[in-house]
Amino acid sequence: MIDLRSDTVTQPTAAMRDAMANASVGDDVYGEDPTVNLLETTAAEMLGKQAGLFVPSGTQSNLLALLTHCARGDEYIVDQTAHTYRFEGGGAAVLGGIQPQPISPAADGSLPLEEVRANIKPDDFHFAKSKLLCLENTIGGRALTDEYILQARHLCDETGLCLHLDGARFFNAVIATNTNAEESAAPFDSVSICLSKGLGAPVGSVLVGSVDFIKAARRWRKMLGGGMRQAGVIAAGGLFALQHNVERLALDHTHAGQVATTLEQKFGADQIKHATNMVHVGLATSLYTQLREHLQVKGIRAPRPRWVFHLDIDDADTAKVIEAIEQF
Ligand SMILES: *Cc1c(COP(=O)(O)O)cnc(C)c1O
Repeated sequence: MIDLRSDTVTQPTAAMRDAMANASVGDDVYGEDPTVNLLETTAAEMLGKQAGLFVPSGTQSNLLALLTHCARGDEYIVDQTAHTYRFEGGGAAVLGGIQPQPISPAADGSLPLEEVRANIKPDDFHFAKSKLLCLENTIGGRALTDEYILQARHLCDETGLCLHLDGARFFNAVIATNTNAEESAAPFDSVSICLSKGLGAPVGSVLVGSVDFIKAARRWRKMLGGGMRQAGVIAAGGLFALQHNVERLALDHTHAGQVATTLEQKFGADQIKHATNMVHVGLATSLYTQLREHLQVKGIRAPRPRWVFHLDIDDADTAKVIEAIEQF
């Protein structure tokens, strides 16, 4: 099957499994796992930050960032469609007593900064304390512009907020905007990246930031049960992904673009939205159901109208998807 459900469905390649099988390991709770340590420093260096922390999931990584930036009774400002607010079980509120202030995004996926500003609470005991702005990049596949991110940083500097990035697909954004990772990460106090999305590792995320920030996050990680022992076995997959699978994300963007073009020719450009490795297929439900069933018969799995391209979809698979759409 060609699986368009998500970029989380990738299988580790033989070379990645080799790297995992042969990884040097130690007890990471003692700080003695050389592969985990190398993954953390590699990610930190790539993003131009002082330190990194390997964690089991993107959800835990964002939670650690929120718990580290904010205390009980503090507030973070966030897109109401963002993963952190919407798809992480309300963890910051449940476990940290941190109040979210959700805001509706603009049509381009960015958070209107005047709305953000208007939602920063005055220093008054009636209000929660506004502490953090949390952005997501890419968001729904779309990359925020560098200019927008710098404006967000400026707003945070002016108002004393910290700035966290849920960069589950950070490298897709870097490639789409033709910048480098260090420059893209520079405006943020902390960044979480997923190794298990388009980068193709089986497990894990890395949180990066200052030495003090990561030290505090490491304490939270232990408390949440994220202190792992010979974790180098899985960290090796993530390290391999950072070393081999970043540049090739451009290919996923190309494949998504090719399929989007075919869909536009078939159904009209209004209904189809392509950004980085995702295509949003905005057809009426009954038409989409027919398309989905047609694709299923051809060995293409697309239950939802958001199609995601990844490591396990090559040129030949993309050609098959295009052919199947043309035959519909
Ligand atoms: C997948 C994802 C996460 C969380 O990652 P998990 O490893 O699934 O917990 C966070 N943010 C975004 C934008 C994601 O796509």
